[in-house]
Amino acid sequence: SVSLTLKNITRRYVKDNEEFLAVSNVNLEVKDGEFLTFLGPSGCGKTTTLRMIAGFETPSSGQILLGDQDVTKIPANERRMGFVFQNYALFPHMKIFDNVAYGLKIRNESSDAIKSKVREALAMVGLEKAEHRYPNQLSGGEQQRVALARVLVLRPKVILMDEPLSNLDAKLRLHMRTEIRRIQQELQLTCLYVTHDQKEALTMSDRIMVMNHGKIEQIGTPMKLYDDP
Ligand code: ADP
Ligand code: ADP
Repeated sequence: SVSLTLKNITRRYVKDNEEFLAVSNVNLEVKDGEFLTFLGPSGCGKTTTLRMIAGFETPSSGQILLGDQDVTKIPANERRMGFVFQNYALFPHMKIFDNVAYGLKIRNESSDAIKSKVREALAMVGLEKAEHRYPNQLSGGEQQRVALARVLVLRPKVILMDEPLSNLDAKLRLHMRTEIRRIQQELQLTCLYVTHDQKEALTMSDRIMVMNHGKIEQIGTPMKLYDDP
């Protein structure tokens, strides 16, 4: 089934009194459990598209549906959508446990439920032993795992990731590609993933959407896009 639909999405900005289109007439259907990557050069509209899906920005025109509901009409805590930021965005003064627990506390869940959900999420990313540590005591890769755990703990159906590996060194990046893909498949998450790295897109994705100047240039499986003669 379809989990997410973009209907003729356009995002305009005004720069020096001139209008330009950061995203232009994008139509897209994302299937349940699909790993879809937005690929393309800097400035082509990947992040803007992702941020509109997250509800951080409003389309100038068009509609975004989650299931059959308009995203803007679903209350934030019922959207079951999680965003993983490039810079991790952890709270430096909070232990790892509290960083991951934060969203659950806001929802007033019981401390027993919080404990078991946080531990489950940390185990999922291989950090069950880190709960008492602080972010600055962890490596970049570990911090990125915490950022992922913080999203997973809320049991999302859709996760949105904006260049999540770009601050990691090459070796760690390779390892995290596999980890993210494993978790996405285990939890049957729908994943939208922004990158400008073609190799990353090729190895991780079910489908790749190539953008250029705010438009979809090509969309298809890695095989179809890069192996066909
Ligand atoms: P990408 O993620 O592919 O690098 P972006 O979606 O960040 O591209 O940006 C697409 C275009 O929109 C770029 O030209 C960028 O400068 C412009 N843009 C993005 N956000 C804003 C904004 N808030 N105000 C004005 N222009 C913006
Ligand atoms: P990234 O590659 O991470 O998308 P950008 O330089 O494209 O980095 O944009 C960083 C942020 O600044 C984006 O979230 C976008 O909303 C904002 N931005 C980008 N271009 C402009 C612009 N011309 N005017 C105002 N804000 C912008």
